[in-house]
Amino acid sequence: MGILMYHSVMENPNVVADSLGAIVHSTRVFEAQMQMVARDFHPVNLEEAGRYVMGEAEFPKWPVVVTFDDGYADNYEVAMPILNRCGVPAAFYITVDCVERKTLPWPSRLRFAFRTTRRKTWVDEAETPWRLASPEERERAYLSACDRFCKLTGMVLERGVKKIELDLDAKVGDESRNLMMDWEQVRGLSRNGHIVGSHTMTHPNLAFLEIEDVRHELSESKRQMENRIGTAIHHVSYPCPALFPNWTQQTTEESQRAGYKTAVTTTNGLAHERDNPLELRRLGPTKTLDGLRWNLERAFAGWPG
Ligand SMILES: [Zn+2]
Repeated sequence: MGILMYHSVMENPNVVADSLGAIVHSTRVFEAQMQMVARDFHPVNLEEAGRYVMGEAEFPKWPVVVTFDDGYADNYEVAMPILNRCGVPAAFYITVDCVERKTLPWPSRLRFAFRTTRRKTWVDEAETPWRLASPEERERAYLSACDRFCKLTGMVLERGVKKIELDLDAKVGDESRNLMMDWEQVRGLSRNGHIVGSHTMTHPNLAFLEIEDVRHELSESKRQMENRIGTAIHHVSYPCPALFPNWTQQTTEESQRAGYKTAVTTTNGLAHERDNPLELRRLGPTKTLDGLRWNLERAFAGWPG
């Protein structure tokens, strides 16, 4: 089973390149990809997918599940109408704090600060100086910050991001609030028959947290979503902001303890019968129609990576 990992769909992905980076699909390509999935593969929803993996139902030929991470407003405004037209069910994983506060996930805020600052140098918390003269130097400083910030959660994380925005005197504008869904839109996805799940509270790398923080990120996001949406939340996606891996056996155990039935990772590959449903692999959809067809056909034919 091919579980596709999308994030965002927009008419013109370039307009958000400084914040969202390369995770945005163009509307034109996404629509063509969904038409192909509906026509040439077998779209299934995540609940069915869980039953196949657990051996409770037979796999159809070439099953494909569409998923979205993070909770961007275009998921509701742009992607859902296309999915509905094509008859493709999807699962949308929400970063609860980002929807609650209408702020971009922290990696996007940091990317914007490092890419657009006028400062030519920056000193990190360990007093290490970084040059920010060229795009490559900015990218290196950004990635080093991500490696540290992915181990933080909650208020500590928020304070750290704010400090960098202040140090670099560069911060995403208020209009970026409109890039995140609100709860009414999340409920709208659910009303339209799509599945909504958790992408944690504050988007850390769960493999690098203390166990109390892992528990909070998994169970508090589930609890808050259930309050906001009014239905049980059974599915989670482990964020992958930086470092590898983005889950461990502890993550899996804590997901089960929190009451999740399935969890998707960012490990590349197909999901198979008898896989642990709390460690499902996904495929990254390429930015072209032929690329996605090739990826899926190659994976279903059993060819390596
Ligand atoms: Zn994410």
